[in-house]
Amino acid sequence: MRLTTRTNLAARVLMACAVNPDRLIRTSEIAAICNCSAHHVAVVVQRLQAEGYISTLRGRAGGLRLARPADQISIGAVFRLFEAEIPFAECFDPETNTCPLTGSCRLRGYVKRALEAFYHELDMVTLEDLVRGNCGLTELLSMQPQMPAVCATDQVQH
Ligand code: SF4
Repeated sequence: MRLTTRTNLAARVLMACAVNPDRLIRTSEIAAICNCSAHHVAVVVQRLQAEGYISTLRGRAGGLRLARPADQISIGAVFRLFEAEIPFAECFDPETNTCPLTGSCRLRGYVKRALEAFYHELDMVTLEDLVRGNCGLTELLSMQPQMPAVCATDQVQH
């Protein structure tokens, strides 16, 4: 099993926004710090905006930020959103399915249950859980001139 690039990018975009709550971030900045293509980030941003996860401001001083608090963003919901378009197995899409075993396949049911368990775990995780107190991530993604006080203290101690 492997996540699509878009799902992974969506998580990176949301984490970058959550780590920089007081600032609008540009797509190009996210692409640079996340080591990915600005075009791919833009596609993901468009979808996240359409689904109400982020808001964007156009223009020279524009950029993007979270459209709702990080503790109200379910990672499971984000993953479902981006993964749903690609069926996990051929038989999961009745319109394109050509698998001759579909009518009698037991594997299909087990795979469905395993996927539900996978999403269930992620449903219990919020964006806030990923970033709160994560000074390592803050150091990687922060675009503020200074680290938050709690992380700055942490740096001095180590
Ligand atoms: S073998 Fe079973 S699980 Fe795989 S595509 Fe066919 S019906 Fe689905």
